[in-house]
Amino acid sequence: TTFEELNLIPPVQRALADENYKNPTPIQAQTIPPAIAGKDVLGCAQTGTGKTASFALPILNMLGKRNRKATPNRPSALILAPTRELAIQIGDSCSKYGRHLRLRHALIYGGVGQRQQVRSLKRGVHILVATPGRLLDLMNQGHIELDQLEVFVLDEADRMMDMGFLPDLKRIIKQLPEQRQSLFFSATLSPKITELSNSLLRDPINVNV
Ligand code: AMP
Repeated sequence: TTFEELNLIPPVQRALADENYKNPTPIQAQTIPPAIAGKDVLGCAQTGTGKTASFALPILNMLGKRNRKATPNRPSALILAPTRELAIQIGDSCSKYGRHLRLRHALIYGGVGQRQQVRSLKRGVHILVATPGRLLDLMNQGHIELDQLEVFVLDEADRMMDMGFLPDLKRIIKQLPEQRQSLFFSATLSPKITELSNSLLRDPINVNV
């Protein structure tokens, strides 16, 4: 498979060419087409397999095609990550793959003051990359509304569970719109993870690499 065959919009293809990416990795080749078609995806993959692009590219593709202005405090896509480091990495990937698009992403994580984060949300946000605790704090304070959310991504679900984020996740999931696309990634699939994915995904495409 080549990236051309994935039918990504030209600005995204150009960003991949800038990065010197020649071919999609196996998880990308199997995940991107159904994700672009609007399907839910359950991806089982370790880090280093290219899973970040597996969810970032379909989101950028969808939002870039639409080219709508960012709404303050109301993201179209939400990507949840277990740690600040991973959230930052995902944000970097969004910048990299979205460099020829005019999309705004915001980063929300704990352990730092929230003023800058609140300000970036107010400026308008297409893609919100967040860790669960800080996301809930800012939602409870009215700084984030998920009523316009179209795509929800849960990255490294197994690590989230290990870190005790399940109660937070359940609270967040309860506030997601019924009508949405969900992409779920985990390195392992324990019964608990499967239960969580079942509660989240509708008729998902299963991808295992
Ligand atoms: P990830 O598993 O998402 O953390 O990605 C691992 C590394 O592979 C990152 O440094 C990416 O920039 C790189 N990468 C992702 N997809 C591709 C690709 N299709 N071709 C070459 N490098 C890639």
